[in-house]
Amino acid sequence: MIPPQIGFSAALLVAGLVCLLGGLIVSQTRYNALGSIPLIVLMFSFSWWDITYGLFWAKAPAPYPNFWLYLTYLGVVIIPPAALIFAMQISELDEWVKPPLLIGLSIVPILTIALMATDAQHNLFFGGHSTENIGMIINAGPVYWANTIYSYLLILVSMIIFVRRFRQSAGIYRTQLGIILFGLGFPWLNSFIFLAGLSPFSNADNTPFSFTITGLAFTYALLRYRLLDILPIARSMLIENMSDGVVVLDAQDRLVDFNSAAAHTLKLAQPPQIGYPARDFFSAWSELIQTLSKPDDLRAEIFLDQPAQVFLDLKISRLQDRRNNLLGRLIVWRDITPLKLAEAELREQVIRDPLTGLYNRRYLDEALERELANAARLNRPLSLVMIDIDHFKQINDRLGHTEGDTILRSFAKLLIRHSRVEDTLYRYGGEEFLALLPNSSRADTLKVAEKWRGAFQELHAMHHQEAIHATISCGVAEFPTQGQTGAELIARADQALYQAKNAGRNRVVAWKDILKHGS
Ligand code: GH3
Ligand code: MG
Ligand code: MG
Repeated sequence: MIPPQIGFSAALLVAGLVCLLGGLIVSQTRYNALGSIPLIVLMFSFSWWDITYGLFWAKAPAPYPNFWLYLTYLGVVIIPPAALIFAMQISELDEWVKPPLLIGLSIVPILTIALMATDAQHNLFFGGHSTENIGMIINAGPVYWANTIYSYLLILVSMIIFVRRFRQSAGIYRTQLGIILFGLGFPWLNSFIFLAGLSPFSNADNTPFSFTITGLAFTYALLRYRLLDILPIARSMLIENMSDGVVVLDAQDRLVDFNSAAAHTLKLAQPPQIGYPARDFFSAWSELIQTLSKPDDLRAEIFLDQPAQVFLDLKISRLQDRRNNLLGRLIVWRDITPLKLAEAELREQVIRDPLTGLYNRRYLDEALERELANAARLNRPLSLVMIDIDHFKQINDRLGHTEGDTILRSFAKLLIRHSRVEDTLYRYGGEEFLALLPNSSRADTLKVAEKWRGAFQELHAMHHQEAIHATISCGVAEFPTQGQTGAELIARADQALYQAKNAGRNRVVAWKDILKHGS
């Protein structure tokens, strides 16, 4: 028969090797995962505890009594803080895992080890039993018990963190957390069994076994349910890293949360305090503040020129509880400035003639409509000039198409130079142009067109030594006296132009003149 303590030691050694293997697997395969470091520390500490305690029970050669027990404690004191850090890292409390917490958590372990090492002087740890070959240190001193209570408290806190997380999660995450909770629950069950006097080994500490089961559960969760591999990305991280601006307000429109993208759009120099009133936070966006008072959800494209010029696709949603009480508001926006600029650029391309840079006929329909409405509303005239280059076919034939294009471009430039900002100029067809002159009477328009005609004639007399008689003919029609609709005005300007051509070209004719001639 194998003596019971040898069986106990062997079981501990096997358990220790299993935890060592688990720790090695984590360090080799999941090292970069969130939570991997405390998990590796935990697995190695379990292993350390099992193996040294096993050697202690096996009465392995030692330099002095309880040598292996002392070593065991190095593993024991590390486990509770490591479990807590593991819980925090995989439960969105990662941001608290910083040097102050780590230093705070290392105080008790260091003190415990120091008091244990110096027990001979004060008996506070072993309570005067250090020379005996102790199994379960039930008669130990106050430091031993203080550390034990502290350790279970940390494990309890870790469990609370996991339980909270467990309740919030679903699917595979819930399974992972369930296994972890089962693992962490085991040492409690063990202590309960021991305290209730149900343990088969009355003076042997089963705790390392129970923690081995904890370690096995963690390893199982890791390998079977891919713990650490597919940990959900913390929601706070997700929101923080979104390129969309996110702001959460409470029911009193006070700031609850916001991400860096929001701070960036708002050009906040200093991060505002939680609880800050929305009207101060959005001080640059007065429109938005007014919108906030409205009860409904909202989706809109807005343009802001403060603090920087941006186009935003903005969405405001009510956050409410099950009884529809307002809890607060979620404001999310996407910066659509590049999209809007591209859109504007595209629109320019759609409404401009590529050769001359003037507006095209497509845009005329839209602009004419608008200008007519304006003129009618303001009770002002609006003149339309139809222009055609004379004998352009011949010019093309003599100088070539490329030179013809140059002439078209130079005429467009001339039109721009000799018109007011409110006038709009169009390439109507091949060598036909059209000008819309708001608030310009027929008489004024005739003068302007006459100026264009003279300037064009002069330009080409100068530029082409071989006599090129590049001239234009113009037809003028005036709103509202000579037409009410765009189509009517264009038809009349066209008729006037026809008249100018018939009368010998290189001249400006107003539609009224035709009437005179006709009558
Ligand atoms: P009219 O005095 O009666 O207007 O005579 P015209 O020769 O100007 O009139 P017509 O309409 O017969 O000819 C217009 C010419 O304009 C024909 C075409 O080759 C030329 N044209 C049209 N578009 C362009 C263009 O983009 N570039 C060049 N170079 N020529 C063009
Ligand atoms: Mg023509
Ligand atoms: Mg022509």
